[in-house]
Amino acid sequence: MGHSVSRGQAGAQHIVSSEHAAGNEDVEPAEGAGTGGADGPGEPGEQPVETRGEAPAATPAEIPAEIPVEGSAADGGEDRPVWDVVVVGAGPAGASAAYAAAVAGRSVLLLEKAELPRYKTCGGGIIGPSRDALPPGFDLPLRERVHAVTFSLNGKLTRTRRSRNMLFGLVNRDEFDNSLVESALKAGAEVRTGVTVSRVEQHGPAVPDRRTVAVVLAGEEQPVLARAVVGADGSASRIGAHVGVKMGQVDLGLEAEIPVPESVAEDWAGRVLVDWGPLPGSYGWVFPKGDTLTVGVISARGEGAATKRYLDDFIGRLGLAGFEPRISSGHLTRCRTDDSPLSRGRVLVCGDAAGLLEPWTREGISFALRSGRLAGEWAVRIAEAHDAVDARRQALNYAFAVKAGLGVEMGVGRRLLRIFSRRPGLFHAALTGFRPAWNVFARFTRGATSLAEVVRVHPIARRALDTLDRREPERDERADRAEEGDTTIAPDSDSGTVDGSAGDGGSGGADGPTSGRSA
Ligand SMILES: Cc1cc2nc3c(=O)[nH]c(=O)nc-3n(C[C@H](O)[C@H](O)[C@H](O)COP(=O)(O)OP(=O)(O)OC[C@H]3O[C@@H](n4cnc5c(N)ncnc54)[C@H](O)[C@@H]3O)c2cc1C
Repeated sequence: MGHSVSRGQAGAQHIVSSEHAAGNEDVEPAEGAGTGGADGPGEPGEQPVETRGEAPAATPAEIPAEIPVEGSAADGGEDRPVWDVVVVGAGPAGASAAYAAAVAGRSVLLLEKAELPRYKTCGGGIIGPSRDALPPGFDLPLRERVHAVTFSLNGKLTRTRRSRNMLFGLVNRDEFDNSLVESALKAGAEVRTGVTVSRVEQHGPAVPDRRTVAVVLAGEEQPVLARAVVGADGSASRIGAHVGVKMGQVDLGLEAEIPVPESVAEDWAGRVLVDWGPLPGSYGWVFPKGDTLTVGVISARGEGAATKRYLDDFIGRLGLAGFEPRISSGHLTRCRTDDSPLSRGRVLVCGDAAGLLEPWTREGISFALRSGRLAGEWAVRIAEAHDAVDARRQALNYAFAVKAGLGVEMGVGRRLLRIFSRRPGLFHAALTGFRPAWNVFARFTRGATSLAEVVRVHPIARRALDTLDRREPERDERADRAEEGDTTIAPDSDSGTVDGSAGDGGSGGADGPTSGRSA
């Protein structure tokens, strides 16, 4: 049984069983580089989400008796609620979409297969564009404020750059995502956790009329009905499969959450490490969060064993191998192809479900927050659309808004990744030895500029990128590998195991810990 949290008229919390719920950066000299889940249908949990909030929920409309119903479960005059917007997945993209639609006064249901808060494999790096895309007044649960970055090139040529101003922040994803869901609740959305969406249907017996989408839940006979659906169910998205999202770049990220003694934690306070890795396009990171270090690596899918070896070597040479990880996990990241759809009928996709993330850094939280907000706003318009033509127009507007902003940024990221895959040393030399490059990096992480803007505004940057891009062969090893995976999303093929044996398109993938949980 899943759980639902809704707002009552007096702001009281109701927990309902799912059956009944509808400048110049300062640079300091070099220093040493630091001291030595399953994505298939989730098991319904028992814990309700605990939240506080004020706003009363907008209530879903009832299907009026006169709307013709084509042999559906709604037959027999049974009134069933029709939500304006149903959002699938309560990560940053889904919570943002639910918030945006709820503040517009619409009835919104957010469906999440896990119980919240839930673990998510992620560095939790919150750059400026992520901060800027948060709901107004959002209290960011920062675990660390980053003022320094240590760069190394596969463990060598280590150098630390520092900034007077905060570069970016670090969060634990369970806390961050849960706070975002609370914002959506306060805005009036209803949330049901422990429910897995199996599929959506826009035609057929489950669909009462042409303005309605049926959202089918695992283990439940009656689908949830909506005027518009937002798919935000992550990188192995079932809604993305329905829409026909095509992915052009697939990477495997491996991470270990390593509790460390105070003396080690102190050494990392306010500082992250970025290591340009030995595999094409790979890099590793240490993101400190108080008494725990999140240590991870990412590389192209298809090299599971080598990626795992990179993580082990990385942890070893940092002197962290003696500390037992609390959680070890893996997750695939996927980037959409340029021509991939972002909608189908009354269904929109956003965040990882749409393959929206920055191809070079694989930064995805800001893409999830920004596309989620846009999806929530345009879903409201789709919900109001009276016919398929109008719904299509609104969906195209959503796609245009995404492509004009995030799409352009992804284009620049793809070019950077192509060059970086061949010449990691060049990036390392620029960031550690060429102050303007570091300044751009710092401005980018703080949100003062975007990669696309840098290329647009600075002729030198544009020329350098053009020149390097021309010198790189049209195709590289990464592109070849990606092409193998350049297919429509296969739902639940999101695996990444730490033994390196999966993460290559296997099924029953991981959206959380895969092994090594020892806490
Ligand atoms: C190793 C690694 C490190 C990363 N580090 C960073 C970083 O430091 N900074 C950054 O910006 N990005 C990072 N990313 C990328 C970032 O984690 C994602 O881009 C981001 O989580 C996308 O958010 P989302 O809301 O689209 O999807 P998710 O956060 O994946 O949320 C999807 C939600 O949908 C739910 N769901 C899935 N299927 C269903 C279903 N069928 N029914 C109901 N619910 C469902 C899931 O349980 C989940 O809660 C990292 C990624 C990896 C793999």
